[in-house]
Amino acid sequence: KKPPMRKGSMIDVPKNLMEQIQSLEEQFTVSGEKLKEVTKHFVGELNKGLSKKGGNIPMIPGWVMEFPTGQETGDYLAIDLGGTNLRVVLVRLLGNHKFDTTQSKYKLPDHIRTSSSEELFSFIADSLKTFVDEEFPEGVTEPLPLGFTFSYPCSQDKVNEGFLQRWTKGFDIEGVEGEDVVPMLQEQLVKRKIPIDVVALINDTTGTLVASMYTDAETRMGCIFGTGVNGAYFDVVSDIEKLEGRLPSDITSDLPMAINCEYGSFDNELVVLPRTKYDIIVDKQSPRPGQQSFEKMTSGYYLGELLRLILLDLQQQGLIFEGQDLTKLQKPYVMDTSYPARIEEDPFENLEDTYDIFKNELGVETTGGERKLIRRACELIGTRASRMSMCGIGAVCTKRGYKTAHIAADGSVFNKYPEFKERAAAGLRDIFDWEPRQNIEEYPIVIVAAEDGSGAGAAIIAALTQKRLAAGKS
Ligand code: BGC
Ligand code: MG
Repeated sequence: KKPPMRKGSMIDVPKNLMEQIQSLEEQFTVSGEKLKEVTKHFVGELNKGLSKKGGNIPMIPGWVMEFPTGQETGDYLAIDLGGTNLRVVLVRLLGNHKFDTTQSKYKLPDHIRTSSSEELFSFIADSLKTFVDEEFPEGVTEPLPLGFTFSYPCSQDKVNEGFLQRWTKGFDIEGVEGEDVVPMLQEQLVKRKIPIDVVALINDTTGTLVASMYTDAETRMGCIFGTGVNGAYFDVVSDIEKLEGRLPSDITSDLPMAINCEYGSFDNELVVLPRTKYDIIVDKQSPRPGQQSFEKMTSGYYLGELLRLILLDLQQQGLIFEGQDLTKLQKPYVMDTSYPARIEEDPFENLEDTYDIFKNELGVETTGGERKLIRRACELIGTRASRMSMCGIGAVCTKRGYKTAHIAADGSVFNKYPEFKERAAAGLRDIFDWEPRQNIEEYPIVIVAAEDGSGAGAAIIAALTQKRLAAGKS
Protein backbone atom coordinates (compact mmCIF):
# COMPACT_ATOMS: atom_id res chain seq x y z
CA LYS A 1 0.00 0.00 0.00
CA LYS A 2 1.13 3.51 -0.79
CA PRO A 3 1.83 5.78 2.19
CA PRO A 4 -0.76 8.55 2.50
CA MET A 5 0.03 11.82 0.82
CA ARG A 6 1.57 14.36 3.15
CA LYS A 7 0.46 17.96 3.12
CA GLY A 8 2.38 20.41 1.00
CA SER A 9 1.63 23.09 -1.52
CA MET A 10 -0.85 22.03 -4.19
CA ILE A 11 0.68 21.93 -7.62
CA ASP A 12 -1.09 23.54 -10.53
CA VAL A 13 -0.43 21.65 -13.71
CA PRO A 14 -0.24 23.98 -16.73
CA LYS A 15 -2.77 23.33 -19.47
CA ASN A 16 -0.28 22.05 -22.06
CA LEU A 17 1.03 19.44 -19.62
CA MET A 18 -2.53 18.42 -18.70
CA GLU A 19 -3.05 17.72 -22.39
CA GLN A 20 0.05 15.54 -22.45
CA ILE A 21 -1.11 13.65 -19.40
CA GLN A 22 -4.43 13.00 -21.09
CA SER A 23 -2.71 11.81 -24.21
CA LEU A 24 -0.53 9.40 -22.18
CA GLU A 25 -3.65 8.14 -20.43
CA GLU A 26 -5.23 7.37 -23.78
CA GLN A 27 -2.14 5.57 -25.02
CA PHE A 28 -1.42 3.49 -21.94
CA THR A 29 -4.83 2.61 -20.53
CA VAL A 30 -5.87 -0.95 -21.27
CA SER A 31 -9.59 -1.56 -20.85
CA GLY A 32 -11.16 -4.71 -19.42
CA GLU A 33 -12.48 -5.44 -22.92
CA LYS A 34 -8.98 -5.27 -24.35
CA LEU A 35 -7.66 -7.59 -21.62
CA LYS A 36 -10.34 -10.11 -22.56
CA GLU A 37 -9.47 -9.87 -26.23
CA VAL A 38 -5.75 -10.34 -25.51
CA THR A 39 -6.46 -13.31 -23.22
CA LYS A 40 -8.62 -14.97 -25.84
CA HIS A 41 -5.90 -14.67 -28.45
CA PHE A 42 -3.38 -15.85 -25.84
CA VAL A 43 -5.25 -19.15 -25.30
CA GLY A 44 -5.03 -19.90 -29.01
CA GLU A 45 -1.33 -19.09 -29.03
CA LEU A 46 -0.65 -21.41 -26.07
CA ASN A 47 -2.34 -24.21 -28.02
CA LYS A 48 -0.37 -23.40 -31.17
CA GLY A 49 2.82 -23.61 -29.14
CA LEU A 50 1.97 -27.19 -28.17
CA SER A 51 1.16 -28.24 -31.73
CA LYS A 52 3.61 -29.97 -34.08
CA LYS A 53 3.82 -26.87 -36.21
CA GLY A 54 4.51 -24.60 -33.25
CA GLY A 55 3.83 -20.88 -32.90
CA ASN A 56 5.21 -17.73 -31.29
CA ILE A 57 5.10 -19.12 -27.76
CA PRO A 58 7.72 -21.87 -27.33
CA MET A 59 5.76 -23.96 -24.73
CA ILE A 60 8.83 -25.97 -23.76
CA PRO A 61 8.38 -29.34 -22.04
CA GLY A 62 10.55 -29.24 -18.91
CA TRP A 63 10.76 -33.02 -18.38
CA VAL A 64 9.48 -32.81 -14.84
CA MET A 65 6.95 -35.62 -14.99
CA GLU A 66 5.59 -35.90 -11.53
CA PHE A 67 4.22 -33.62 -8.89
CA PRO A 68 6.43 -33.25 -5.85
CA THR A 69 4.92 -35.00 -2.83
CA GLY A 70 6.56 -32.75 -0.26
CA GLN A 71 8.30 -35.82 1.12
CA GLU A 72 11.45 -35.60 -1.03
CA THR A 73 14.62 -35.40 1.05
CA GLY A 74 18.37 -34.89 0.58
CA ASP A 75 21.04 -32.22 0.12
CA TYR A 76 21.30 -30.44 -3.19
CA LEU A 77 23.11 -27.50 -4.68
CA ALA A 78 21.19 -25.01 -6.74
CA ILE A 79 22.34 -22.06 -8.76
CA ASP A 80 20.28 -19.29 -10.25
CA LEU A 81 21.72 -17.14 -12.97
CA GLY A 82 19.55 -14.04 -12.90
CA GLY A 83 19.93 -10.69 -14.55
CA THR A 84 22.05 -9.11 -11.82
CA ASN A 85 23.25 -11.83 -9.47
CA LEU A 86 24.34 -15.40 -9.40
CA ARG A 87 22.76 -17.06 -6.40
CA VAL A 88 24.26 -20.27 -5.03
CA VAL A 89 22.09 -22.23 -2.63
CA LEU A 90 22.59 -25.34 -0.55
CA VAL A 91 19.15 -26.86 -0.10
CA ARG A 92 18.33 -29.40 2.54
CA LEU A 93 15.00 -31.05 1.65
CA LEU A 94 13.58 -32.21 4.95
CA GLY A 95 10.36 -33.91 3.85
CA ASN A 96 7.03 -33.00 5.47
CA HIS A 97 6.75 -30.02 3.08
CA LYS A 98 9.78 -28.36 4.68
CA PHE A 99 13.24 -27.35 3.55
CA ASP A 100 16.23 -25.31 4.73
CA THR A 101 18.50 -23.18 2.57
CA THR A 102 21.94 -21.61 2.98
CA GLN A 103 22.89 -19.21 0.24
CA SER A 104 25.37 -16.72 -1.16
CA LYS A 105 24.98 -14.09 -3.83
CA TYR A 106 27.71 -13.17 -6.30
CA LYS A 107 27.23 -9.97 -8.24
CA LEU A 108 27.65 -10.44 -11.98
CA PRO A 109 30.53 -8.30 -13.23
CA ASP A 110 29.10 -5.43 -15.26
CA HIS A 111 30.66 -6.44 -18.54
CA ILE A 112 29.30 -9.99 -18.42
CA ARG A 113 26.00 -9.16 -20.17
CA THR A 114 27.98 -8.75 -23.38
CA SER A 115 31.02 -10.99 -22.76
CA SER A 116 31.81 -14.53 -23.99
CA SER A 117 30.48 -17.95 -22.97
CA GLU A 118 33.90 -18.86 -21.57
CA GLU A 119 33.82 -15.84 -19.25
CA LEU A 120 30.26 -16.50 -18.14
CA PHE A 121 30.75 -20.14 -17.23
CA SER A 122 34.16 -19.50 -15.65
CA PHE A 123 32.52 -16.92 -13.43
CA ILE A 124 29.79 -19.40 -12.41
CA ALA A 125 32.32 -22.18 -11.73
CA ASP A 126 34.58 -19.87 -9.69
CA SER A 127 31.61 -18.75 -7.59
CA LEU A 128 30.58 -22.37 -7.03
CA LYS A 129 34.11 -23.22 -5.95
CA THR A 130 34.11 -20.42 -3.39
CA PHE A 131 30.77 -21.61 -2.06
CA VAL A 132 31.66 -25.32 -1.88
CA ASP A 133 35.00 -24.54 -0.17
CA GLU A 134 33.16 -22.51 2.45
CA GLU A 135 30.27 -24.90 3.05
CA PHE A 136 32.28 -28.13 2.91
CA PRO A 137 35.67 -27.28 4.45
CA GLU A 138 36.46 -30.99 4.89
CA GLY A 139 35.84 -31.61 1.20
CA VAL A 140 33.11 -33.78 -0.33
CA THR A 141 33.17 -37.54 -0.89
CA GLU A 142 30.26 -38.01 -3.30
CA PRO A 143 29.71 -35.56 -6.16
CA LEU A 144 27.07 -33.00 -5.18
CA PRO A 145 23.95 -33.03 -7.38
CA LEU A 146 23.15 -29.57 -8.74
CA GLY A 147 19.99 -28.05 -10.18
CA PHE A 148 20.76 -25.19 -12.55
CA THR A 149 18.11 -22.48 -12.78
CA PHE A 150 18.72 -20.75 -16.07
CA SER A 151 16.08 -18.11 -16.75
CA TYR A 152 16.22 -17.99 -20.52
CA PRO A 153 14.34 -20.01 -23.15
CA CYS A 154 16.07 -23.37 -23.62
CA SER A 155 14.98 -26.33 -25.73
CA GLN A 156 15.16 -29.59 -23.83
CA ASP A 157 14.71 -33.21 -24.90
CA LYS A 158 15.61 -34.26 -21.39
CA VAL A 159 15.94 -32.54 -18.04
CA ASN A 160 19.74 -32.32 -17.97
CA GLU A 161 20.22 -30.36 -21.15
CA GLY A 162 19.18 -26.96 -22.41
CA PHE A 163 19.90 -25.46 -25.80
CA LEU A 164 19.58 -21.70 -25.49
CA GLN A 165 17.08 -20.52 -28.09
CA ARG A 166 17.96 -16.85 -27.68
CA TRP A 167 19.02 -14.41 -25.02
CA THR A 168 16.36 -12.17 -23.49
CA LYS A 169 16.37 -9.27 -20.98
CA GLY A 170 19.25 -7.47 -22.70
CA PHE A 171 21.75 -10.33 -22.35
CA ASP A 172 23.93 -10.72 -25.41
CA ILE A 173 26.76 -13.18 -24.69
CA GLU A 174 28.47 -14.64 -27.69
CA GLY A 175 28.70 -18.35 -28.38
CA VAL A 176 25.78 -19.57 -26.28
CA GLU A 177 22.71 -19.27 -28.51
CA GLY A 178 21.98 -22.62 -30.12
CA GLU A 179 24.28 -24.45 -27.70
CA ASP A 180 23.63 -26.75 -24.74
CA VAL A 181 24.60 -24.80 -21.62
CA VAL A 182 24.92 -27.87 -19.35
CA PRO A 183 28.23 -29.19 -20.78
CA MET A 184 29.56 -25.63 -20.88
CA LEU A 185 29.11 -25.39 -17.13
CA GLN A 186 30.19 -28.98 -16.47
CA GLU A 187 33.42 -28.41 -18.41
CA GLN A 188 34.42 -25.44 -16.25
CA LEU A 189 33.62 -27.45 -13.11
CA VAL A 190 35.79 -30.36 -14.26
CA LYS A 191 38.64 -27.97 -15.10
CA ARG A 192 38.56 -26.74 -11.51
CA LYS A 193 38.09 -30.26 -10.07
CA ILE A 194 34.87 -29.27 -8.33
CA PRO A 195 32.90 -32.48 -7.57
CA ILE A 196 29.48 -31.37 -8.86
CA ASP A 197 27.05 -33.14 -11.18
CA VAL A 198 24.63 -30.91 -13.07
CA VAL A 199 21.56 -33.17 -12.95
CA ALA A 200 18.81 -30.78 -14.04
CA LEU A 201 18.44 -27.55 -15.94
CA ILE A 202 15.28 -25.68 -15.09
CA ASN A 203 13.56 -22.47 -15.90
CA ASP A 204 12.87 -20.12 -12.97
CA THR A 205 9.11 -20.45 -13.56
CA THR A 206 9.24 -24.24 -13.42
CA GLY A 207 11.28 -24.01 -10.23
CA THR A 208 8.75 -21.61 -8.76
CA LEU A 209 5.90 -23.94 -9.70
CA VAL A 210 7.49 -27.05 -8.21
CA ALA A 211 8.81 -25.38 -5.05
CA SER A 212 5.40 -23.93 -4.30
CA MET A 213 3.65 -27.24 -4.98
CA TYR A 214 5.98 -28.83 -2.43
CA THR A 215 4.40 -26.66 0.25
CA ASP A 216 0.97 -25.78 -1.22
CA ALA A 217 -1.09 -28.35 -3.16
CA GLU A 218 -3.39 -25.62 -4.56
CA THR A 219 -0.54 -24.23 -6.69
CA ARG A 220 -1.40 -24.32 -10.40
CA MET A 221 1.20 -22.01 -11.96
CA GLY A 222 4.63 -20.62 -11.24
CA CYS A 223 5.05 -17.07 -12.58
CA ILE A 224 7.86 -14.57 -12.68
CA PHE A 225 7.15 -10.84 -12.75
CA GLY A 226 10.69 -9.56 -12.69
CA THR A 227 13.33 -8.45 -15.16
CA GLY A 228 11.45 -10.79 -17.52
CA VAL A 229 7.93 -12.27 -17.47
CA ASN A 230 6.98 -15.88 -17.87
CA GLY A 231 4.88 -18.70 -16.47
CA ALA A 232 4.94 -22.49 -16.09
CA TYR A 233 2.19 -25.05 -15.41
CA PHE A 234 1.63 -28.78 -15.59
CA ASP A 235 0.03 -30.16 -18.73
CA VAL A 236 -0.58 -33.83 -19.62
CA VAL A 237 1.66 -35.67 -22.07
CA SER A 238 -1.30 -36.77 -24.25
CA ASP A 239 -2.30 -33.11 -24.77
CA ILE A 240 1.15 -32.08 -26.01
CA GLU A 241 0.90 -32.85 -29.69
CA LYS A 242 4.47 -31.96 -30.50
CA LEU A 243 5.74 -34.76 -28.20
CA GLU A 244 4.16 -37.44 -30.37
CA GLY A 245 6.83 -39.78 -31.65
CA ARG A 246 9.55 -38.12 -29.57
CA LEU A 247 9.07 -40.05 -26.35
CA PRO A 248 10.93 -42.96 -24.80
CA SER A 249 8.51 -45.88 -24.33
CA ASP A 250 8.38 -45.60 -20.53
CA ILE A 251 6.91 -42.10 -20.73
CA THR A 252 3.22 -42.82 -20.94
CA SER A 253 0.61 -40.44 -22.25
CA ASP A 254 -1.12 -40.04 -18.89
CA LEU A 255 1.94 -38.50 -17.17
CA PRO A 256 1.98 -34.85 -16.18
CA MET A 257 4.61 -32.66 -17.84
CA ALA A 258 5.81 -29.28 -16.66
CA ILE A 259 5.60 -26.70 -19.44
CA ASN A 260 7.76 -23.60 -19.45
CA CYS A 261 5.55 -21.38 -21.61
CA GLU A 262 8.09 -18.65 -22.40
CA TYR A 263 5.09 -16.43 -22.98
CA GLY A 264 7.22 -13.28 -22.97
CA SER A 265 7.21 -13.89 -26.72
CA PHE A 266 3.42 -13.84 -26.93
CA ASP A 267 2.15 -12.01 -30.00
CA ASN A 268 5.46 -11.32 -31.69
CA GLU A 269 3.19 -11.20 -34.75
CA LEU A 270 1.55 -8.09 -33.22
CA VAL A 271 -2.07 -9.09 -33.73
CA VAL A 272 -3.56 -7.82 -30.45
CA LEU A 273 -0.90 -6.10 -28.33
CA PRO A 274 -1.87 -2.45 -27.71
CA ARG A 275 1.58 -1.03 -28.37
CA THR A 276 2.38 2.66 -28.11
CA LYS A 277 5.04 4.49 -30.10
CA TYR A 278 7.31 4.08 -27.05
CA ASP A 279 6.96 0.29 -27.14
CA ILE A 280 7.96 0.38 -30.78
CA ILE A 281 11.14 2.33 -29.96
CA VAL A 282 12.02 -0.03 -27.07
CA ASP A 283 11.75 -2.94 -29.46
CA LYS A 284 13.70 -1.32 -32.31
CA GLN A 285 16.59 -0.34 -30.05
CA SER A 286 16.83 -3.71 -28.27
CA PRO A 287 19.46 -6.30 -29.23
CA ARG A 288 16.65 -8.64 -30.42
CA PRO A 289 13.97 -6.60 -32.26
CA GLY A 290 10.75 -8.48 -32.95
CA GLN A 291 11.30 -10.83 -29.99
CA GLN A 292 9.64 -10.88 -26.55
CA SER A 293 6.94 -8.41 -27.59
CA PHE A 294 4.73 -9.15 -24.57
CA GLU A 295 7.68 -9.02 -22.17
CA LYS A 296 8.78 -5.65 -23.52
CA MET A 297 5.44 -4.15 -22.42
CA THR A 298 5.24 -5.83 -19.03
CA SER A 299 8.56 -6.73 -17.45
CA GLY A 300 10.80 -4.80 -15.10
CA TYR A 301 13.68 -4.53 -17.51
CA TYR A 302 11.67 -2.10 -19.65
CA LEU A 303 9.50 -0.02 -17.28
CA GLY A 304 12.10 2.66 -16.55
CA GLU A 305 13.12 2.75 -20.17
CA LEU A 306 9.53 3.44 -21.24
CA LEU A 307 9.44 6.35 -18.81
CA ARG A 308 12.72 7.68 -20.16
CA LEU A 309 11.47 7.52 -23.76
CA ILE A 310 8.26 9.35 -22.88
CA LEU A 311 10.20 12.13 -21.15
CA LEU A 312 12.71 12.51 -23.97
CA ASP A 313 9.87 12.68 -26.48
CA LEU A 314 8.10 15.45 -24.56
CA GLN A 315 11.37 17.28 -24.09
CA GLN A 316 12.10 17.14 -27.81
CA GLN A 317 8.71 18.69 -28.46
CA GLY A 318 9.75 21.55 -26.18
CA LEU A 319 7.10 20.65 -23.58
CA ILE A 320 9.26 19.85 -20.54
CA PHE A 321 12.75 20.27 -19.04
CA GLU A 322 13.43 23.62 -20.71
CA GLY A 323 17.10 24.58 -20.44
CA GLN A 324 18.05 21.41 -18.54
CA ASP A 325 21.14 19.30 -19.18
CA LEU A 326 19.88 15.95 -20.43
CA THR A 327 23.22 14.16 -20.80
CA LYS A 328 22.33 11.56 -18.19
CA LEU A 329 18.77 11.04 -19.33
CA GLN A 330 19.94 10.45 -22.86
CA LYS A 331 21.67 7.23 -21.83
CA PRO A 332 19.53 4.17 -22.69
CA TYR A 333 18.35 2.17 -19.66
CA VAL A 334 19.74 4.74 -17.22
CA MET A 335 16.50 4.37 -15.21
CA ASP A 336 15.93 0.86 -13.91
CA THR A 337 12.57 -0.23 -12.45
CA SER A 338 13.47 1.30 -9.11
CA TYR A 339 12.86 4.73 -10.69
CA PRO A 340 9.17 4.39 -11.53
CA ALA A 341 8.76 2.34 -8.32
CA ARG A 342 10.25 5.06 -6.12
CA ILE A 343 8.39 7.82 -7.95
CA GLU A 344 5.10 6.00 -7.38
CA GLU A 345 6.01 5.71 -3.70
CA ASP A 346 6.74 9.43 -3.31
CA PRO A 347 4.41 10.38 -0.42
CA PHE A 348 4.55 14.14 -0.83
CA GLU A 349 1.79 16.15 -2.44
CA ASN A 350 4.39 18.19 -4.32
CA LEU A 351 6.52 15.13 -5.08
CA GLU A 352 9.67 16.15 -3.27
CA ASP A 353 11.26 12.71 -3.45
CA THR A 354 10.78 12.81 -7.21
CA TYR A 355 12.40 16.23 -7.27
CA ASP A 356 15.45 14.79 -5.47
CA ILE A 357 15.65 11.73 -7.70
CA PHE A 358 15.72 13.83 -10.86
CA LYS A 359 18.02 16.46 -9.41
CA ASN A 360 20.55 14.20 -7.70
CA GLU A 361 20.60 11.17 -9.94
CA LEU A 362 19.84 12.61 -13.36
CA GLY A 363 20.94 16.23 -13.04
CA VAL A 364 17.52 17.55 -14.07
CA GLU A 365 15.65 20.22 -12.12
CA THR A 366 11.91 19.60 -12.42
CA THR A 367 8.95 21.92 -12.02
CA GLY A 368 5.90 20.86 -10.02
CA GLY A 369 3.85 20.35 -13.17
CA GLU A 370 6.56 18.19 -14.71
CA ARG A 371 6.66 16.02 -11.61
CA LYS A 372 2.89 15.53 -11.74
CA LEU A 373 3.27 14.39 -15.31
CA ILE A 374 6.17 12.08 -14.42
CA ARG A 375 4.19 10.54 -11.58
CA ARG A 376 1.17 9.96 -13.78
CA ALA A 377 3.38 8.41 -16.48
CA CYS A 378 4.78 5.97 -13.89
CA GLU A 379 1.30 5.03 -12.71
CA LEU A 380 0.24 4.39 -16.28
CA ILE A 381 3.30 2.30 -17.14
CA GLY A 382 3.05 0.31 -13.89
CA THR A 383 -0.69 -0.23 -14.17
CA ARG A 384 -0.51 -1.34 -17.77
CA ALA A 385 2.29 -3.80 -16.97
CA SER A 386 0.46 -5.41 -14.06
CA ARG A 387 -2.88 -5.64 -15.89
CA MET A 388 -1.44 -6.89 -19.16
CA SER A 389 0.72 -9.50 -17.46
CA MET A 390 -2.48 -11.07 -16.09
CA CYS A 391 -3.42 -12.17 -19.62
CA GLY A 392 -0.84 -14.96 -19.37
CA ILE A 393 -2.39 -16.26 -16.17
CA GLY A 394 -5.90 -15.79 -17.51
CA ALA A 395 -4.99 -17.76 -20.63
CA VAL A 396 -3.36 -20.71 -18.83
CA CYS A 397 -6.25 -20.97 -16.35
CA THR A 398 -8.78 -20.81 -19.19
CA LYS A 399 -6.92 -23.41 -21.20
CA ARG A 400 -6.64 -25.81 -18.26
CA GLY A 401 -10.12 -25.05 -16.97
CA TYR A 402 -8.91 -23.90 -13.55
CA LYS A 403 -11.81 -22.15 -11.80
CA THR A 404 -9.83 -21.70 -8.60
CA ALA A 405 -6.05 -21.66 -8.20
CA HIS A 406 -3.06 -20.40 -6.32
CA ILE A 407 -0.63 -18.78 -8.71
CA ALA A 408 2.86 -18.77 -7.15
CA ALA A 409 4.65 -15.57 -8.08
CA ASP A 410 8.16 -14.24 -7.72
CA GLY A 411 10.36 -11.53 -9.18
CA SER A 412 11.36 -7.96 -8.44
CA VAL A 413 8.24 -6.37 -9.91
CA PHE A 414 5.92 -8.67 -7.96
CA ASN A 415 7.88 -8.21 -4.75
CA LYS A 416 8.75 -4.53 -4.92
CA TYR A 417 6.66 -2.54 -7.36
CA PRO A 418 4.02 -0.50 -5.50
CA GLU A 419 0.43 -1.73 -5.94
CA PHE A 420 1.38 -4.45 -8.39
CA LYS A 421 -0.72 -7.00 -6.51
CA GLU A 422 -3.85 -4.81 -6.33
CA ARG A 423 -3.62 -3.79 -9.96
CA ALA A 424 -3.00 -7.37 -11.04
CA ALA A 425 -6.04 -8.60 -9.09
CA ALA A 426 -8.17 -5.91 -10.73
CA GLY A 427 -6.89 -7.07 -14.13
CA LEU A 428 -7.80 -10.70 -13.45
CA ARG A 429 -11.18 -9.58 -12.21
CA ASP A 430 -11.77 -7.76 -15.51
CA ILE A 431 -10.71 -10.83 -17.48
CA PHE A 432 -13.03 -13.19 -15.59
CA ASP A 433 -15.85 -10.76 -14.72
CA TRP A 434 -15.69 -11.53 -11.01
CA GLU A 435 -17.81 -9.60 -8.56
CA PRO A 436 -15.63 -7.08 -6.69
CA ARG A 437 -14.41 -8.26 -3.28
CA GLN A 438 -13.05 -6.37 -0.29
CA ASN A 439 -9.90 -8.37 -0.06
CA ILE A 440 -7.92 -9.52 -3.11
CA GLU A 441 -7.23 -12.85 -1.41
CA GLU A 442 -10.93 -13.70 -1.73
CA TYR A 443 -10.92 -13.98 -5.51
CA PRO A 444 -11.11 -17.50 -6.98
CA ILE A 445 -7.67 -17.23 -8.55
CA VAL A 446 -5.17 -15.73 -6.14
CA ILE A 447 -1.59 -14.71 -6.75
CA VAL A 448 0.51 -15.75 -3.78
CA ALA A 449 4.17 -15.15 -2.95
CA ALA A 450 6.16 -18.16 -4.13
CA GLU A 451 8.47 -20.41 -2.23
CA ASP A 452 12.11 -20.09 -3.24
CA GLY A 453 11.88 -21.49 -6.76
CA SER A 454 15.41 -21.09 -7.89
CA GLY A 455 16.74 -22.80 -4.76
CA ALA A 456 14.18 -25.26 -3.46
CA GLY A 457 12.54 -25.78 -6.86
CA ALA A 458 15.82 -26.64 -8.52
CA ALA A 459 16.67 -28.98 -5.63
CA ILE A 460 13.30 -30.76 -5.72
CA ILE A 461 13.55 -31.24 -9.47
CA ALA A 462 17.07 -32.62 -9.03
CA ALA A 463 15.68 -35.01 -6.40
CA LEU A 464 12.79 -36.11 -8.62
CA THR A 465 15.25 -36.67 -11.47
CA GLN A 466 17.59 -38.79 -9.38
CA LYS A 467 14.63 -40.87 -8.22
CA ARG A 468 13.53 -41.50 -11.83
CA LEU A 469 17.04 -42.45 -12.90
CA ALA A 470 17.48 -44.74 -9.88
CA ALA A 471 14.25 -46.49 -10.90
CA GLY A 472 15.76 -47.08 -14.35
CA LYS A 473 13.39 -44.65 -16.08
CA SER A 474 14.32 -42.16 -18.77
C1 BGC B 1 12.99 -15.59 -20.05
C2 BGC B 1 12.31 -16.70 -19.28
C3 BGC B 1 12.24 -16.34 -17.81
C4 BGC B 1 11.66 -14.97 -17.60
C5 BGC B 1 11.65 -14.56 -16.14
C6 BGC B 1 12.35 -14.25 -19.74
O1 BGC B 1 13.05 -13.23 -20.37
O2 BGC B 1 12.91 -15.83 -21.44
O3 BGC B 1 13.03 -17.91 -19.45
O4 BGC B 1 11.47 -17.31 -17.15
O5 BGC B 1 12.39 -14.02 -18.34
O6 BGC B 1 12.92 -14.59 -15.59
MG1 MG C 1 15.43 -14.47 -11.36
